[in-house]
Amino acid sequence: MRHPMLATVNSFSALLPPAEHRLALRVTRQAQRTLHQGHPWLFDRSIVSQSAEGRAGDLAVIFDDRRRFLAIGLYDPSSPIRVRVLQHNAPATIDAAFLAGRLATAVERRARLAAKETTGYRLVHGEGDELPGLVIDRYDRVLVMKLYTPAWLPYVPVLLEGVAAVVPAEWIVLRMSRAVQREAEPLGIVDGATLTGAPPDGPHLFVENGLRFEVDVLRGQKTGFFLDQRDNRARVETLAAGKEVLNVFAYTGGFSLYAARGGASSTVSLDISVPALEAAQRNLALNEHLPAVSACQHEYLAENAFTGLARLAKEGRRFDLVVVDPPSFAQQQSAVPGALHAYERLAKLALGVMRPGGTLVAASCSSRVSSEDFFASIRTGASRAGRVLHEFDHTAHPPDHPVRFPEMAYLKCLYALS
Ligand code: SAH
Repeated sequence: MRHPMLATVNSFSALLPPAEHRLALRVTRQAQRTLHQGHPWLFDRSIVSQSAEGRAGDLAVIFDDRRRFLAIGLYDPSSPIRVRVLQHNAPATIDAAFLAGRLATAVERRARLAAKETTGYRLVHGEGDELPGLVIDRYDRVLVMKLYTPAWLPYVPVLLEGVAAVVPAEWIVLRMSRAVQREAEPLGIVDGATLTGAPPDGPHLFVENGLRFEVDVLRGQKTGFFLDQRDNRARVETLAAGKEVLNVFAYTGGFSLYAARGGASSTVSLDISVPALEAAQRNLALNEHLPAVSACQHEYLAENAFTGLARLAKEGRRFDLVVVDPPSFAQQQSAVPGALHAYERLAKLALGVMRPGGTLVAASCSSRVSSEDFFASIRTGASRAGRVLHEFDHTAHPPDHPVRFPEMAYLKCLYALS
């Protein structure tokens, strides 16, 4: 295992802008309207004038045409989202107490989840918790703080204090998006750095709805686990009794394990990543004490979903319940038509291995693809497969991934019989 460096508080405080250093920004009429309505992003193209050049982490105060306060937020010169708003419409002092308050509110919102045999969940969901560009995930006593803007770097020590006051943690790890890594590395702050505490011995475990999972917070995707699919996994458990289940884009086997506990007779977990499927097998072993999980047959296929599904169809393999949960296909706007086409192909391929009367569960996490467009592409895929879909549910975000404005609503999932 790679030993992450301890990032010292000094590396961060070197970045802290002087408290009195604030930028004053004037913005377009359109931006004034959206900010007034509570939108948390100010784009670079909407800035009309700016009092000084800004550095990442500077506080920016945005005024309207009549010099009235509109919003205050974090400035990021490296991103087209130039300011991420921390507070709208009423001036605020952004200090340790302010941020600690926001963190405490976010943690309080999750109190219900913590009580449900679930120790892995999102504590802070960026814009959804009015801490834009900041994610904190909890995996039992390990916390992962992930920054999506370098503007948060100077505030890391303060965030640490705020979070430690409300959540017990043995180890807090820093993860950063690529753009943030580029700014942090020259300062000696590396992705995966330990912020406090020490890593547990061996693989780290947490529970979700009573199922045990390991998580690799240093190398795993996102912060190590797709916490956002918890409720869909739980739903699949209720649909799986007696079924042969195919889990496409299985990652570490979440949907397969829930299906097994729900009484599935077999699961096939298909993913292109060999390490993910190896973790899926370890997760299975962690839950084999559950009679339903050990009674279920488990198979793992490391291959591309598109060619794998076509191969399974050709070999005559058929399933009663097919889950399709691909990665985001549209990282930018220009990729949206291609993404819709990919969803359509996947739906057609998935139905090609599904017995008549089976259940299709199809999810999308592409924020640029609307739910309606996504559902429409699944319907088109179904009609190309010569199947009629009887949709019985559409789901969106779980409560620990709150959505405050439309661009945040990335997750959607369709349930259908066919
Ligand atoms: N359903 C999972 C999360 C899926 S994330 C869960 O509940 O945890 C998306 C997964 O798709 C990743 O594991 C990634 O390895 C896999 N993947 C990406 N491209 C793929 C492809 N072309 N074929 C198969 N798997 C792919």
